[in-house]
Amino acid sequence: MSSLEQLLVVQDHDTTLDQLRHRRTTLPEREVVARAEARLRELEGPITETRARRDVVHRDVKRLEDEASAASAKAKDVDAAMYSGTITSAKELQAMQTDLEQIRAHQRTLEDRELEFMEQQELIDGELGVLDREVVAAGAEIAAARKVIVEQEAVIDAEIAAEISARAESAVDIPAELLALYERCHAQNRGPGAARLLGNTCQGCRLTIPATEVDRIRHAAEGAPVSHCDNCGAILVPGRP
Ligand SMILES: [Zn+2]
Repeated sequence: MSSLEQLLVVQDHDTTLDQLRHRRTTLPEREVVARAEARLRELEGPITETRARRDVVHRDVKRLEDEASAASAKAKDVDAAMYSGTITSAKELQAMQTDLEQIRAHQRTLEDRELEFMEQQELIDGELGVLDREVVAAGAEIAAARKVIVEQEAVIDAEIAAEISARAESAVDIPAELLALYERCHAQNRGPGAARLLGNTCQGCRLTIPATEVDRIRHAAEGAPVSHCDNCGAILVPGRP
């Protein structure tokens, strides 16, 4: 096999390597991870805000609870004093009775408000539950996708390693200068570094090469400088039609 023919074999391996590397960087699971991570970032604000609301309501519940139990204790004291037998004045007892009723009415008001706040707290806890479940779901999605990525990377890396070794084997007889030229073309073109000239068409980019140029390439002496496609820059390899 001529060196130019061997370049095409190297090119095939490089094409496969490019595809493998592209597949590695564009695994669909990477998109899944990115989307789920974006969702987690979106949830941060609402979670912080909802927790702050819950804390406020929680403090209100606690405050009303304390006030209600203070009122209850006070009512018990008044009640105990009234029935202690030490107070005999009917007028004073009447005043205490009025006082007791007021305290109990205040206690009920406090307890009713506490109940309202507790209902609010329950609603907010529900909202937080929804948000927390979303966080857990996104986390699970990320973990599952990352697991697939690791597995896929291992598979692709093994294919890449095999391809690199096959490429090295196919390049072994190519003169270093020609191989370096090919590699420069491949790197610059971001496409084929070498392409078959089939009829008068470059198989790298499908451009038609002028007939005189095709003739010159086909009849070039062994060791003559290589020709490049004007369009894609690939080294043109004449040969089997
Ligand atoms: Zn071309």
